[in-house]
Amino acid sequence: MTTKVDGAGASDVDYLIIGAGMCGLYQLHQLLEIGADVRVVDANSGLGGTWFKNRYPGCRFDSESYTYQYSFSPELLAEWDWQEKFSAQPETLSYLEHVADRFDLRPHITFDARVVRAEWSEADWRWTVSFEDGSQIRARFVLYAMGLLSVPTYPRVAGRGSFGGLETHTFDWPEDYDVTGKRIAVIGTGASGVQVITDVADKVSELYVLQRDANWCTPLGNGPISEEEMARLRASYDEIFAWCRETPAGFIHRPDRTLSTDVTREERLRHWEELYNGQGAGLYMGNYRDTIMEPGPNKELSEFVAEKIRQRVKDQRVADLLIPKDHGFGTKRVAGESGFYEAFNQDNVELVDLMAHPIQEVTEAGVRLDLGGGKVRDLELDAIVYATGFDAVTGAFDRIEIVNGEGEHLKDRWEDGPETCLGVQVSDFPNMFILVGPQSGSATANFPRGIEDVVNWMTETARHIESHGIARFEGRREAEVAWVEHVREVNAKLLLSQTQSWFNGHNINLDRDDKPRVMVYLGGAPRYRRRLQEEIDQEYPSFVLTEGSGPRQSVRAGSAAASG
Ligand code: NAP
Repeated sequence: MTTKVDGAGASDVDYLIIGAGMCGLYQLHQLLEIGADVRVVDANSGLGGTWFKNRYPGCRFDSESYTYQYSFSPELLAEWDWQEKFSAQPETLSYLEHVADRFDLRPHITFDARVVRAEWSEADWRWTVSFEDGSQIRARFVLYAMGLLSVPTYPRVAGRGSFGGLETHTFDWPEDYDVTGKRIAVIGTGASGVQVITDVADKVSELYVLQRDANWCTPLGNGPISEEEMARLRASYDEIFAWCRETPAGFIHRPDRTLSTDVTREERLRHWEELYNGQGAGLYMGNYRDTIMEPGPNKELSEFVAEKIRQRVKDQRVADLLIPKDHGFGTKRVAGESGFYEAFNQDNVELVDLMAHPIQEVTEAGVRLDLGGGKVRDLELDAIVYATGFDAVTGAFDRIEIVNGEGEHLKDRWEDGPETCLGVQVSDFPNMFILVGPQSGSATANFPRGIEDVVNWMTETARHIESHGIARFEGRREAEVAWVEHVREVNAKLLLSQTQSWFNGHNINLDRDDKPRVMVYLGGAPRYRRRLQEEIDQEYPSFVLTEGSGPRQSVRAGSAAASG
């Protein structure tokens, strides 16, 4: 199937995928299926991406396990039993390892291969990809599957790195570290912080939760999956996947078409009670749709959840601190929790309000808090855990020097925010495909569901490339401008687009200005899937495709060679 390009310079490989996580593995499998010449490289020493790296205690996903798996293979679906309703990191990593073994993917993956530079040559239409160790691979096409959250960020506080004990980001948690009896500070109460805090609270001797802003959390409703339940789920996989394909975020939860104002307050509260006590992200994703679009309904829902926090936390001063003040419920990603609030009822757990008492510095013994008026408080610790989030979405791209034929760096192009052609390409960066990245509908969906859409599109596109002898595939600038505008418009309808979170490019730990960026596409996975399918059906009108074997042919054929 693969047509080797016989241009000026030979390639080492036709398709180079960067990243052996959930997305990269699936793309590898699909390209192998169509007979493509493909290789995967990954900076880590093992596969799994997010699930290889995040080994902190309590790490798990908020997606129902049976929706967080590949759907492409009936045999795989038949043989894998999920143990928990919301699988923890070790089980998810085992699943991905099983997939790699079952489909014999490992021989096609090179580990410990960190990409530092990728440069496009106009002379022979190849990418030269350079690695940290100085080695290089030349590829016709480079496919980026590096994850949205693979570059951790740290607070810019004095003394960081000088602590004598364990000082780690959740992303780099050393798996063999035993927290039993230790004095630990966790900085940050996003989804990662909430999980690690809950998990270690009853094992450590002292736990200090250093919180800047509170985040909304709802009960996950986790528990084991019995054999009978597993059999019932397996028998319903077709319906489950079909349902998830139609929900905006690829979850089993779907926003209610009913408005909260269409029902009585009594009905609303009863419904919210059910959702709160149900499973997963129902209150967040399966609620009356105006609760995430209109400030009034959102305020009422926020107050409902705030009251839950007041009921669960004994000390009302602590409860009040745990109730977000800077954003309404569901206007940032809501974290699923399993006893997070009850942890604060334990004597060994203390909530430290960083707004009142900021970190002055990290010392050799722990963390020094600034109490104001020249007073300080020293927390003596065994471990400091930064649950402070990521240089999300574009961070992994920024860390590679990606250079086009004009010598322009992608990082410079994206300085004021990313611009992509349908979330899959960037104009003037030919033959570079983004599988997981900015403005892609696949990225903010329940991940396996979302990435299947973009990988399936990419696979069809690779088929087209090979069968039509396409040497160059490049997003049109006008399509890029239109897409960014569309994403901006669609996102503006949701309150999510108005808050300071990684969804909108905020991260004040970075040395860049903190203005909002159009990072994610909130128009929903079905709409995104349809949009990508249109490109296939209409022979890629948003892209310029050039047939032939290299630059010489394109010059000869001129624009006649470009289809679409
Ligand atoms: P995050 O949501 O960005 O949260 C970072 C936390 O660190 C926030 O509480 C933030 O406070 C705090 N923080 C950041 N810089 C700080 C500083 N300089 N000083 C003090 N506090 C600081 O990061 P995350 O918790 O790692 O989650 C990121 C994403 O990963 C989630 O949105 C989710 O998509 C994914 N995730 C999912 C799961 C799951 O499925 N259950 C679990 C973990 C992660 P402010 O709010 O004040 O900025």
